[in-house]
Amino acid sequence: MSLKNTALAASLALALVGLTPSLAAAEQWGVGQPRGDLGRQVLAANDGWAWAEGGTTGGAAASAANVYHVSTWPEFQAALGGAGNAARTNTEPRIIYVHGELNAFETADGTLSTCETFERATGFSQAAYIETFDPSGPWGWNDPAGELVTLQAAAANAQAIQTQQHIGSNKTIIGVGEDARIVGANLRIRDADNVIVRNLTVSDSTDCFPEWDPGDGETGNWNSRYDNISVWTSTHVWIDHNTLDSGTMPPDQLREVYGRPYEVHDGLLDITHSSDLVTVSYNRFEAHDKTMLIGSSDGRTADRGTLRVTIHHNLWTDIGQRAPRVRYGQVDVYNNYYVQTSDADWFEYFWGLGRESQLYAENNYIALAPGNEAASVVRVFGGTAMTEIGTRVNKAKVSVVDAYNAANPANPIGNDAGWTPQYRLRVDPTMSVPQRVQHQAGAGVLR
Ligand code: CA
Ligand code: CA
Repeated sequence: MSLKNTALAASLALALVGLTPSLAAAEQWGVGQPRGDLGRQVLAANDGWAWAEGGTTGGAAASAANVYHVSTWPEFQAALGGAGNAARTNTEPRIIYVHGELNAFETADGTLSTCETFERATGFSQAAYIETFDPSGPWGWNDPAGELVTLQAAAANAQAIQTQQHIGSNKTIIGVGEDARIVGANLRIRDADNVIVRNLTVSDSTDCFPEWDPGDGETGNWNSRYDNISVWTSTHVWIDHNTLDSGTMPPDQLREVYGRPYEVHDGLLDITHSSDLVTVSYNRFEAHDKTMLIGSSDGRTADRGTLRVTIHHNLWTDIGQRAPRVRYGQVDVYNNYYVQTSDADWFEYFWGLGRESQLYAENNYIALAPGNEAASVVRVFGGTAMTEIGTRVNKAKVSVVDAYNAANPANPIGNDAGWTPQYRLRVDPTMSVPQRVQHQAGAGVLR
């Protein structure tokens, strides 16, 4: 480059710093230029379903003015186009770098809201709700109803405006370094195409207002509405190298109310409402009950032909169920590592075969704690078959489908999901999966 061009480039750079807050912010963070490297990376060719039909580039096309560095929740919301529904329709290519910990209860003035904030704003009391609908009291086993239910919905909406954040089309959200973290949020990718989330810890999507459903199961259940990340009616989504957990409220820390766990979470990553073309790679899913739901209802026949998801090289530690639970979709689950580090007594199953599910599982490594059987890896909710190749359970080659069928001879499942995955990177030998996934999955690994 000639001296003249160098001088021109320098003056252009100065002009850009003056014009674009994002570049100035980048310098403030000591990262010089934005890490075009990570923020502008796109999904590799053939890396799962998110590659099909056009690929996934997120916000890689963002102009310099649309590169954001955020370190608070309100900054994060603003970078996405605003709180509430505002961000949902924002389709501008944007890259959002997340620095440090963002708390979704943080308000615009920097104070932290609490569950009581939403109660005061609406005149609702969750304590009164719990007292009123106690099945051992006069209300009995009837569904909650009346003014308390109306007020609870209002309080829940007040929380949603604070802690639920929509992510629109053409966005990349990328954690910077090892400690980028969002706590208390429900990140909802809704009505969007082309979204990337990488290198981020998303923790404890707590719901202030769990609902009692006396008809759920034999003994009723508390249900919550928030997933750490929800993918709704969205396509071309790449969720990569994140850590998703329950924070300080994993299943064994939940108190019991009416003799049932007072569950303040829903999923870690739920993919529903005809979402399609999603790749979930190299994430950690930790200590959680209902971890990943793909397809939310048997009756949602519009989901037929959608919900195509690839799930590879993820680490699933002490999961209760839904890893994943599938309806309708062609879901490719390869090279995952499932591990039970403790005798987590909330384990129910990993692979849930729901209505018209087409789960294809290859070279997954499952480490079960003593007392849990290979047959319990699969549970059937109306599904009829899955393809299973190369599974190992506690080092041994095991067909969990055969184990399931041996344990359930009256209702066996078939061993052909009826399709073959075509979008994959390398498929590793099963025995190499634990080490590779332990070292490479989760937030803080990418450089
Ligand atoms: Ca912060
Ligand atoms: Ca959910």
